[in-house]
Amino acid sequence: MGGVGTEALGEGLFDRVSRAEGNVMSVFRQVCPFHADEDIRGVLTGSEDGSVSFTCTRSRGHPNGGPHAWLYVPQPDGLPGIDGYAAELGLATELPVAIAQYRRQWIEYGVAERAYALQCPADFAAIVIRYGHTAVSPKQYTTSAFLAGALGVLSKHGTVLYHVGPATGRWKYNGTISWWTVAPAPDWESNRLSWSDSGQDMSYVPGAADQ
Ligand SMILES: [Zn+2]
Repeated sequence: MGGVGTEALGEGLFDRVSRAEGNVMSVFRQVCPFHADEDIRGVLTGSEDGSVSFTCTRSRGHPNGGPHAWLYVPQPDGLPGIDGYAAELGLATELPVAIAQYRRQWIEYGVAERAYALQCPADFAAIVIRYGHTAVSPKQYTTSAFLAGALGVLSKHGTVLYHVGPATGRWKYNGTISWWTVAPAPDWESNRLSWSDSGQDMSYVPGAADQ
């Protein structure tokens, strides 16, 4: 769990996504957080969760140098308390720390989710109880959509770095999926760890059926 300052930051980040929900256009157009005059058109990632990828192609002014990419995962209406819950879990701190365990590699979403689950097992179990997981039973809005949504908010601000890429193994049904790292960004072509290459299974999900 982060300290008071960190949680206040998380709250602010998640509030911004929440406000965007009221405006359908904002799902497909978002302003680069580092260039207020740069209105970026989103591209559907092809992932099952309807996530949208944004890239500001300017080469200057981003925290990591080069273009800045971020992910937006739509959050369904009528799910109260997501903003507060994500902040309560300290995700603005915990997710970057989990991903940083794989420093100098881009990791497929499932690798990041497992790293977070092992780092914060009680919190992860509580999220699975709240939202379910496709490893337990098919469901529209899941733990993975919740965590990917939180990662998306963090990626917009550069706390974690995002790249769209292939989904492998158990996640393959998504087609494409988000990949994650922390700054400085490793080379995308040569430094990747996919879910299938990680050799892990779904046993980190409480109640998972397809271990
Ligand atoms: Zn920009």
